Amino acid sequence: MVVTLFDPWKSRLCTCSRKYSLNPYTGCSHSCIYCYITSYIPRGYEARLKKNIFKDLKRELPNLNRKIPITMSNSSDPYQPIEREYKITRKVLKMLSEFKVQIITKSDLVTRDSDLLSQMKAAVAITVTTLDEELAGKLEPLAPSPHDRLKAMEHLISHGIPVSARIDPIIPYINENAEELVKELSHIGVKHITSSTFKPRYDSWRRLRETFPEETEKLHSLYFDKGERKQNSSYLPEGLRLKLMKGVRQACKKHSISFATCREGLNINTAESCDGIHLIN
Ligand code: SF4
Repeated sequence: MVVTLFDPWKSRLCTCSRKYSLNPYTGCSHSCIYCYITSYIPRGYEARLKKNIFKDLKRELPNLNRKIPITMSNSSDPYQPIEREYKITRKVLKMLSEFKVQIITKSDLVTRDSDLLSQMKAAVAITVTTLDEELAGKLEPLAPSPHDRLKAMEHLISHGIPVSARIDPIIPYINENAEELVKELSHIGVKHITSSTFKPRYDSWRRLRETFPEETEKLHSLYFDKGERKQNSSYLPEGLRLKLMKGVRQACKKHSISFATCREGLNINTAESCDGIHLIN
C-alpha cells in the first residue's frame, strides 16, 4: 500500500484528525540530526524512489474516502533534491486533483508546484526550527536554508495557498527561543503554527550529542533522569514542556496566529487542528 491511514505507532498522544499518509520517496536526504526515521527506516538518510508508486496509486486512489485529506509526507520530504530531476511528487499531485492535500516539507522546491497547488484543495506546512543559518546548518545539514524556506512561504501565500509553519522540534539550550521566528512568520502571513519539543530516540540522541556536546550534557538529566519515557521516545519533564510550548503559544497569540502542539499530551491548543489541516478549508 502506498497510501495508508496516518497512525504513528497507534500513539494516544497524536491528536490529528483522520488523514492518509503518502510518501513518494523512501528515506530523506535532508539528514536532520533530530530526525526519528533512522530508528525504523534502513538507510534513512538516503532518499530513493518508491517502486511501482504510480501503478499502486492507480489501484488505491479509487477506493479512498475523498473527505479524508492526504498528507505528503510524514516520514520523508516529498521535495527531495532528486525530486528536481524525477518530478515524482509533481506527477503524484496531478493524480490527486480530486483530493484534499497537505504538503509537509522543508524545501523551497515546493514553489515549483504552486501552479498545481493553487488549483487544488491544498495547504502547505513548512518546518522552520530557527532563523539562525549557522544553527540550521548543524540541525538540518542538507535541507534548504531558513531564508529559502521563508521565501517559499511568501511565494505560496502570494499564490493563495494557505501555509502553516512547524517549529518542530524545540530543543532547550539550542533553539528554545522562538519569539523572533514567530514574529517573522507572522509578517509573512503564516496563519498557524504547530510546535513540539525534541523527543530523542537512541540514534537521534547520539547525533545531537556529537553535534552539541555541551548542550547535551545539560540536557542529559532532564531527559533521562527527570523526564518520561513514552512510546520508545524520551520526553522532557512535563512542566518544562509546558513552559516551552506556552512560550511559543504566547508569541503566537501576540501575532494572532493559531497554535497547536504535536504529540505533547498538553491541552493548550488554540487551533481547530493540531497539524494545520484546517487551513485547507
Ligand atoms: S526533513 Fe523530516 S524526514 Fe527528512 S530528515 Fe529532516 S526531519 Fe527527517
